[in-house]
Amino acid sequence: MQAQPQRISGRAVGAVMFIAALAVTVAWIVLRVFFTTEPVESAPEDSTAPLGAASIARPFDHVVVLSIDGLRPDAVAHALDLGRAGFTALLKGPHTLEARTDPDSTVTLPNHVGMVTGRLFRGPQGHNWLPNVLLPTIAEGGTLHAAHGSYVPSMWDVAHDHGLMTAMLASKGKFILFDNSFREEQGRPDATGADDGTRKIDLVGFALRGEGVIRKIMAFLDDAAAQGRRSLSFIHLADTDVTGHVRAWDMTPGSLYLACVDRMDALVDRLVRHIEANPALRGRTAIVMTSDHGGGAPPSSHTVPESPLNFRIPFVVWGGDGEPVDLYAISPSRTRPAPTERMTATGGSPIRNADAGNCALWLLGLPPIPTSTVGVEQDLLVGWSRPLP
Ligand SMILES: [Zn+2]
Repeated sequence: MQAQPQRISGRAVGAVMFIAALAVTVAWIVLRVFFTTEPVESAPEDSTAPLGAASIARPFDHVVVLSIDGLRPDAVAHALDLGRAGFTALLKGPHTLEARTDPDSTVTLPNHVGMVTGRLFRGPQGHNWLPNVLLPTIAEGGTLHAAHGSYVPSMWDVAHDHGLMTAMLASKGKFILFDNSFREEQGRPDATGADDGTRKIDLVGFALRGEGVIRKIMAFLDDAAAQGRRSLSFIHLADTDVTGHVRAWDMTPGSLYLACVDRMDALVDRLVRHIEANPALRGRTAIVMTSDHGGGAPPSSHTVPESPLNFRIPFVVWGGDGEPVDLYAISPSRTRPAPTERMTATGGSPIRNADAGNCALWLLGLPPIPTSTVGVEQDLLVGWSRPLP
C-alpha cells in the first residue's frame, strides 16, 4: 500500500519532467529559428558571408589592387608636399604611410603572394613561396599549391567564383606564377553559385613599363563596365623598383628615383581621371594601393627585412572624393608601429600589404579568402563611412 502512491508519484514526476523537457526543446527551436542572428555555419573554408565585421553598406562594382614596386612612403609624402595630382587624389580617403611588409621578407614575389592570398610567408598557414628570380615550371612544382602542400585560394578565386571578371596585369615576367597557379588545370572547382570554372583570372597581361599596364587596366575596366559586369583586378608597376636597383633609392630632390615616383604619380592621376570620366565607373570603383617593399638597404636593393627603409610601405584605399582619414584611427584591431618597429608575426598586428586581398573583397561586398589569415575579419575599414558619390 505504501509503494503504490510512490509509483504513481514517480510516473507523475516523470510525465511532468518529459513535458517540461519537450517545452524547453520546442521553445529553444522557436527561439533559434526566429531570433538567432549568428550564422550556423561559420567555417572559413565554406563561408559565403563576411566573417566578423559588418558588410559594407554600398559595395563597389570594381576594385583595382595597385602595387607600385619599391615605392617608399617618404617618396609618397614628398609627392604630396610637391602637390602632385595623382597621390594627392589617391590619398583622399583612408590611408597610412606606416604599413608593413611581410615580417620575414622584403622581396617582390613573396610579398605579392601575400597581397593576393592574405597569408604571411611563414607559419602553418604561411604561403611558403620563396623563389623570386628563377621560377620553377608547373611540372617542377611552380604553383602556390605545390609550394604550400595544399590548395592556396586567392582573392581572384573568391571574386571569380562569385561571377566577377578578374585580371592580373604586371610588369615583371615572374608574375606568371599567378597564371600558373590559377589556370584551368590548377584552379579549384567553383563551389559558389553558378559554375564560373576553374580558371580564376580571366585576363592575364604583361607590359614592361607602367604606361602599358595602365592602358591595359583602363581598357579592362571599360570592357567590364560596358558588359555590365563587376570586376576585381590586380595591377603591378615595376618602374620605381627598376630605377632603384639601377640608381639607388635616392631621396635627394631631383634624383632619378624621385623622378620615377613622379612618373608613377602621373600614371595614378591618369587612372583616377579615367575612372572619374566614365559614368559607369565613377563612384563605383575603388583602388587599394600598396607596395611590396621600400628600398635602400643595401642602397641599390631591398633585401634586408630588418631595415625600416625596406619594411615601411604605404597602404591606401581610394573610393572617389572624400576626406583623408588615418587608416589606423578607424582600425581598432590594428596597432600602429613606431617608424623603426618591424613587428614580427607574433609581435602585433600592423596594417600589412597582405591586407590588400581581403580588403578588396570587402569593398566588393564579398567574403574573405578561405583559409587566409591576414585581414580575414575584414574589419580594416570598420570605422569608415563611405562618402556617397
Ligand atoms: Zn627589387
